[in-house]
Amino acid sequence: MKQVKVFLTEDEIPKQWYNIQADLPDPLQPPIHPATGEPIGPDALAPVFPMNLIEQEVSQERWINIPDEVMEKYLLWRPTPLYRAYELEKALGTPARIYYKNEGVSPPGSHKPNTAVAQAYYNKAFGIKRMTTETGAGQWGSALSFATCLFGLECKVYMVRISYDQKPYRRLMMNCWNANCIASPSKNTNAGRKILEENPDSPGSLGIAISEAIEDAVTSKDTRYSLGSVLNHVLMHQTIIGLEAKKQLEKLGEKKVDVVCGCAGGGSNFSGLAFPFVLDKINGAEITIVPSEPTSCPTMTRAPFSYDFGDTAETTPLLPMYTLGHKFIPPPIHAGGLRYHGIAPLISQCIVEGLIEPRAYNQLGAYEAAVLWARTEGFISAPETSHAICTVIEEAKKAKEEGKEKVILLNWSGHGLMDLTGYDAYFSGKLVDYPLPEEEMRQSLEAIEGLPKPKKMKGGKEI
Ligand SMILES: *Cc1c(COP(=O)(O)O)cnc(C)c1O
Repeated sequence: MKQVKVFLTEDEIPKQWYNIQADLPDPLQPPIHPATGEPIGPDALAPVFPMNLIEQEVSQERWINIPDEVMEKYLLWRPTPLYRAYELEKALGTPARIYYKNEGVSPPGSHKPNTAVAQAYYNKAFGIKRMTTETGAGQWGSALSFATCLFGLECKVYMVRISYDQKPYRRLMMNCWNANCIASPSKNTNAGRKILEENPDSPGSLGIAISEAIEDAVTSKDTRYSLGSVLNHVLMHQTIIGLEAKKQLEKLGEKKVDVVCGCAGGGSNFSGLAFPFVLDKINGAEITIVPSEPTSCPTMTRAPFSYDFGDTAETTPLLPMYTLGHKFIPPPIHAGGLRYHGIAPLISQCIVEGLIEPRAYNQLGAYEAAVLWARTEGFISAPETSHAICTVIEEAKKAKEEGKEKVILLNWSGHGLMDLTGYDAYFSGKLVDYPLPEEEMRQSLEAIEGLPKPKKMKGGKEI
């Protein structure tokens, strides 16, 4: 019988996370203070994050031990299985061997608890009793609710109003895990009250919700804020995915991977699978590594590399990243997790160095790919994940044309069982493509016009 999936035993699970900062040919440009233009020190972040996570954020150590307390929680769903997509291969008639990591098996249904559990642990170890965060469609809010529940911390989630009203299921998951989820803008914070005074019917936005969650954290006792993507330590926590995948491929006797793909919103699930392979590429291996995004939010494929704020309200330090501008209002596509205006600084630097090659896909094509996936592999993909499936199909078809045996590896970042209304819209012909018009992009980029430009460093030289 053919082997459809590979597990690792609990003993074989990797015991450390991989920190790519130790190996980047050129170091990251530092985050800077918007008022002074000077690099910020760790202390500037202390009211927002616990110091043990700030230390990870700036660490240059290659390997960071996963604490036993985190590992115990990981073992609830990790190691995740690595599947071979035999049925998809057959449907495409490709000579490529397609493998995928199934991160949808976690209790909240995505890769996000890999960092949520780690962050809850470090907050608790630092003496924090309560965590705040924002959530759009609810995937991150549910992951942090799950994680804080495991460690006995309080959790407050500011959920974008329109999703709060339209998508009750993720909110109910948060309640099951004992978190307090409220609609943003709320009357809880100055930021929320100000918006409500101007517009009592505001549908909210991720930018507003971030401002509320940060304000709550810095003004409340024993409370810190948590971010689910973008930051260096968040991406590092996800590398357990790629490290497991390497061991699993080894068990199968696969010696070489040709293509690695994942979708990228803030960039955490893609980095989690890809960074251990980026290291191989830095060391000379030939691998095509592709983060994918929607054409409606083309951060990596069309936006400039600039310093920009992480949030709409301009409360964060300036980060060096590819960005559409922090005032960017994304079109209402269903892949809510891919609608962020920027992309992680670590991913941005890998793009500058030519280590990874981003691609963008239209919404209709992404649903077509997801439906083919459901009808071959069975699993129903999150709308975010479907963008990465587009890359898999593209590469599998290319292998067929070239008549080449290739190994393609995908991060299947989560299931879409809470996102079926998107499939409904697709089946009933209501969905359209929204490639971002040039004029809209130009207007959105006005928000970063006066901001400093980071150096573009490649191979020790400014380019
Ligand atoms: C949140 C989410 C994403 C996008 O976030 P990243 O930080 O880029 O990984 C992708 N897929 C799923 C299933 C998600 O829940």
